[in-house]
Amino acid sequence: KLPGARGTLAKYGGRHTVTAMPGDGIGPEMIGHIRTIFKYCNAPVNFEEVQMTSTYQDGDMEEVIFAIERNGVAIKGNIESKFDDPAFVSRNVELRRRLDLWANVLHCVTIPTVPSRHKNIDIVLIRENTEGEYSGLEHESIPGVVESIKIVTQEKIERIARFAYEYAVLNGRKKVTAVHKANIQKLGDGLFLQIAKDMAKEYPTVEFDQMIVDNASMQCGLVGGPGLVSGMNFGDVHAVFETGTRNTGTGLVGKDVANPTAFIRAGVDMLRYLGCHKHADVISDALWEALTQQGFHTGDIGGSAKTTQVVEATIRNMERILPRYE
Ligand code: ADP
Ligand code: MG
Repeated sequence: KLPGARGTLAKYGGRHTVTAMPGDGIGPEMIGHIRTIFKYCNAPVNFEEVQMTSTYQDGDMEEVIFAIERNGVAIKGNIESKFDDPAFVSRNVELRRRLDLWANVLHCVTIPTVPSRHKNIDIVLIRENTEGEYSGLEHESIPGVVESIKIVTQEKIERIARFAYEYAVLNGRKKVTAVHKANIQKLGDGLFLQIAKDMAKEYPTVEFDQMIVDNASMQCGLVGGPGLVSGMNFGDVHAVFETGTRNTGTGLVGKDVANPTAFIRAGVDMLRYLGCHKHADVISDALWEALTQQGFHTGDIGGSAKTTQVVEATIRNMERILPRYE
């Protein structure tokens, strides 16, 4: 359940239209698997594919923005951010900024059969997507001296903090922890911490805690790498669904070895957002069975299953589970 109202969705004849942006690396293969899975469970979703990759083409960003503004919803693969090219602005960041997709929501849950540092993790990470380290304002004032400017504003801190508390209340979560670096960035992160702490008083049913980011990272651990977790981006009007970590998996392209879990879960998140809860549940249960009871694990989580084996097992499970929902 999400706080706040969002824009209208494109729905004609009982079917939703969503924008699909395959992106770079394994994105195109993964979007293909999502489309197959949606087809097998008769999810009422039409995909409108638009291309946006790191290879710059004049105007394609405008086309993507136009499509997302029309449909209200998109699912995307990641776009290479080209570390080695300082002049190249990350198109993922550009897209989030242009659509003002200010809230990034990532649900980390342990899968019992997948080895992880901690058991029973169930954490929702809520992150501001548009300012702070994402300001992207840098210049080399003289050779060898770089200034990186991190901008934070009361307005946007309040917006994301409010979102976190409202999310906690709506979803019955116990505690909100503000993760910060206010021990060093006393003004910027200090403001964030102060606002989060003050706002906690308005939510007496939610416990407040705070943690320095280094400590939080160490305590949280991982739930098993880039192939497992999905991530959602929300603005006031639009929603974009993608994988939780922004990897492209370029080295895995065409090998049928990538873990499709993160992408399939992004598809499930999107179905829930569209109100297609039955289809979301069927896919989610079917994938869970494939990963746990049936042990279809790709290489990244210690198995030898192929991508298509995970997808096919999920489809078989769906066909068995579907009648229960009819
Ligand atoms: P690259 O683009 O060089 O493959 P990334 O930064 O995109 O690297 O990904 C980091 C690592 O995570 C790589 O080793 C990549 O193979 C792996 N990885 C990314 N996505 C997946 C996935 N869906 N399943 C398994 N491994 C993945
Ligand atoms: Mg990559």
